Amino acid sequence: MKLLGFNEATCKENSSVEQDLLLCEKHGYDYIELRLDMLQEYLKDHTTEDLKAFFATSHLQPFAFNSIEDINFRSPEEWEELVKLFTFGCEIAAEIGNPYMIVVPTMTPEYCTKTEEEVFEDSVQVLQRLAEIASPYGVKLSFEPIGDKRWCCNSIRQALEIVEAVDRDDVGLTVDCINFYMHDKCSDLEMIRRIPKEKLFVFHLNDCEDLPLGVLDHCHRIMPGQGTIPIADIIAAVDDVGYEGPACLELFRPEYWEMDPEEVIRMGAESWKAYRKD
Ligand code: ZN
Repeated sequence: MKLLGFNEATCKENSSVEQDLLLCEKHGYDYIELRLDMLQEYLKDHTTEDLKAFFATSHLQPFAFNSIEDINFRSPEEWEELVKLFTFGCEIAAEIGNPYMIVVPTMTPEYCTKTEEEVFEDSVQVLQRLAEIASPYGVKLSFEPIGDKRWCCNSIRQALEIVEAVDRDDVGLTVDCINFYMHDKCSDLEMIRRIPKEKLFVFHLNDCEDLPLGVLDHCHRIMPGQGTIPIADIIAAVDDVGYEGPACLELFRPEYWEMDPEEVIRMGAESWKAYRKD
């Protein structure tokens, strides 16, 4: 893997789309994953033409929008809201040539108690409905299992069964280091190698503090190389699948939101050097 991406969650509290674009271009990132909430903020005083003009002359290119969350078990009203945001994302994605939209399973305050079958059936149906909406825009859905048990789909195994049942070229998976680790501390790296190449759309790069599962959360994400995740082994497995996209740095660490965003973005590019292979 040689390409580096930046996911805007990393500096979501201390930066903006405008600033992330300039800083990621300056520090040699290849791709950016824009956040839908930050994009809505950006469009208050910019246009999609401004975005297109930036990408027309930059090395940095758009990769995936983040994220459509809590996609499962929606009430009709919640579904309507979700589709509104999703369609907004598809429209902008089509205009600027952003290929993927990250979609995330539903989170509950406690451990999710839905059965495997209920989650499977609902996920297959919801992903099919969203893919139908996205298809005219040429946008693909990257379904991301979130490792903690509060999320109804929390393993690569479960998510892969779902996207294989959906069986569409435009629905695939995101592998995220901490989400893979939070499921079972990466006890089955071979699971990643079972993903067919055409189903692996996005790879999220991060490390995390050494905390027990159940305590470990997204705020404990840390720069690659500073934590306990076997990142090199995960990258090797993702490479074996044949993934050709970028490793997108995605952190939700409050400490980094207190820092100068340029320092965080520079640190991210620096820590990638230990893993990058040409
Ligand atoms: Zn992620």
